[in-house]
This record gives sequence, structure tokens and C-alpha cells, in this order.
Amino acid sequence: MSKKKLGVNTICTHVGEIKDEQFKGAISPIYLSTSYEFDNVDIKRYPRYFNTPNQEHLVKKIATLEHAEDALIFGSGMAAISHMFLAFLQKGDHLVVQNTLYGGTSNFIKEEFPKYGIEFTFTNGYQTSDFEAAIQSNTKLIHIETPSNPLLTITDIKAVADLANARGIVSSIDNTFASPINQNPLDFGIDLVMHSATKYLGGHSDILAGAVAGSKDHIERIWNVGKNLGGSLSDFTVWMLERSMKTLALRVKAQTKNARKLAEFLDVHDAVAKVNYPGLKDHPEHELATSQMKDFGAMMSFELVEGIDAMAFQRELKLIKSTMSLAGVESMMLLPSETSHALLSPEERDAVGISNQLIRFSVGI
Ligand SMILES: *Cc1c(COP(=O)(O)O)cnc(C)c1O
Repeated sequence: MSKKKLGVNTICTHVGEIKDEQFKGAISPIYLSTSYEFDNVDIKRYPRYFNTPNQEHLVKKIATLEHAEDALIFGSGMAAISHMFLAFLQKGDHLVVQNTLYGGTSNFIKEEFPKYGIEFTFTNGYQTSDFEAAIQSNTKLIHIETPSNPLLTITDIKAVADLANARGIVSSIDNTFASPINQNPLDFGIDLVMHSATKYLGGHSDILAGAVAGSKDHIERIWNVGKNLGGSLSDFTVWMLERSMKTLALRVKAQTKNARKLAEFLDVHDAVAKVNYPGLKDHPEHELATSQMKDFGAMMSFELVEGIDAMAFQRELKLIKSTMSLAGVESMMLLPSETSHALLSPEERDAVGISNQLIRFSVGI
């Protein structure tokens, strides 16, 4: 069975399922064992080694969706990011990272890297020239996020990947916002793609998990660090994630369709000063988004006009939940200045364009 010929819903439903040989059940059995007898084939199965039956099977689904050779799943998106960074960076190395970035990733870099003697530069912007300008002789990794959180800026994936490849630098992307349904960065030459599976891969606001996909060699390097850091995912949650991912394409496509309509509605609304959604023709990188995304996703942000109290607006929401997370089947909004980017100083928020009137909108099904 050639995986390339399978439709996306078939991949989501069937790739990596475990056949229930014993009872012929329709779904993958769940193996919670933390201890496995040696079977003479030199596999020492243990959950922290990322090699229990459920772990080993689920990564096939994720790798197939991201057009990757292999993948690993982790206890959270931050575990995926930290394991990935620490696999490719050591003392004296330098990371180039996009300035508009998930708040947790920025904090991780700023708070932890100095302890390890790892250097880093946040770019001045998200243009390819900004990444080029930040590269040093000791740069070992370039990390991007597109569409970015919460402003939905679009970085040129192929241009940054080419920049890195030409210098022998490893490149990685946080593909959480697009999901593998709307964007496959490995096709553009990026080495590693990571997800907070807490978001679209999980999709029901009930799982904390992460994933990284890439070549066998790159994944093995992360595995070597991972068995020491210990950030693998418990098998019960692995099984829940498999169950959730069966509807990934159905959910994301419905959410994307809704988002496009809502972006168009908000774009002409009197109470809204600005909508950030790559699917709108007036988005500065609409053309670029069209060239590298299959569709524009279900995340957007918008600015309320001055005079509307954004906190009061949030409190008045009826059906849409005002929550911290995103990508669930429910629609959700939050104020980045009060939540996801609250740890940045007001000056830092200004510098990356996050105003107090900005609302992030995760569109549901
Ligand atoms: C949520 C999120 C993360 C972190 O994932 P956790 O599962 O919360 O650890 C990383 N990147 C992006 C874009 C996210 O939205």
C-alpha cells in the first residue's frame, strides 16, 4: 500500500492503526504496559524510549501527514520544542529565531538558554533578509513560525530553508497554526516541523501533547536527547490523540471554511479596525501564503476600534469561549496582551505590534 496515494482522510483514519489480532476490534488496542519482555530482536520497549506499540504506531500517522520519514510524540508542545532545540544546540552554538513567536517558546529561550551557554538572536522582523542578517558563524539552527501567533504574519518558508541549507544550518518550523492539513513545510526544504498537538491534532481541548517530524537522522538525534530529558507522552494520551486525529482533516477543513467567512465579515465591520488573516486579499503576504499554504487556516486576529473596551467585549461573548488555548472544535477568543503575551513587557509587545485592542480568534467547526 503506497502511502502517497492515500487521501488525507484515509491517512488520518487508518495510517498507524494497530490491528487487534486477538479480538478483531475496529480500533487500535491501547497498550499501557511500562514493562515488556525482551523478545530477542533487541527492542527494549519502555515508554520513555518513545517505543511502546501505541507510540510507534501513532508517529506513522503524523509523519505521513507531514511528508516526513519519521516523527516523535511528546508530553507537550513545549516538550517537543525544548527537545528539538536541545538536540541541535549546545554550549557556544547560536540560534536564529523569529521575533513574532509563541510566548512560551520565547520564554523558554530567554530563561533557559543562558543557563546552557547557548546564544540566540531574535530577528528584527519576519522577512528573509531579517533571518539572513541574524546569522552568525556559530549559528546551528534557524526556527520560524508561520502563520505567526497572534498576528498571522507569513514567513517565506522556502527562502528561509534555502538560506539555512546553503550554510549547513538546520531549520525548524512551528506548524501548529496551519496544521498539516493546510501546510507541509518539509516540501519547501525545512528540516524539522513541530506541533503543539494540544491544538489542532488533538482538537477537542482535552489533550496536552506535542510532535516533531523530519528525516530519520534528525529524529534519531532528537531521540537521543529525548531519552535523557524524558518528555515522552503517556500511552493513554497517545491513544486519545490517535482517536482525535481521525477527524483532523474534517475538522480543520470545516474550521478553515468558517474562518474565511468570518474574516470577510469582520473586515468590513464598523467596530473592527483591522483583520489579520492570510486569506484576505489585503493581507500583506497574501500571495506568499497562497504559494505555500494549501488553505489559510482557522486562526485570525483583529483589532477593535479605539473606544471599545476589549476586556468588556470579551466578557459579553455568548457562544464563543474566552479561553487561553486554541484550535478546538469550539470557537475561542483571547486578548494576547492579557494572556499569551502577558509575560512580555509593554515595550516588547509594542515592538512586535500587539496592541491592547487585539483579539485572537480561533474559529471552531
Ligand atoms: C500552544 C502552542 C505551543 C506550546 O504547546 P503546549 O502543548 O502548550 O506545550 C507552541 N507553539 C504554538 C504555536 C502554540 O500555539
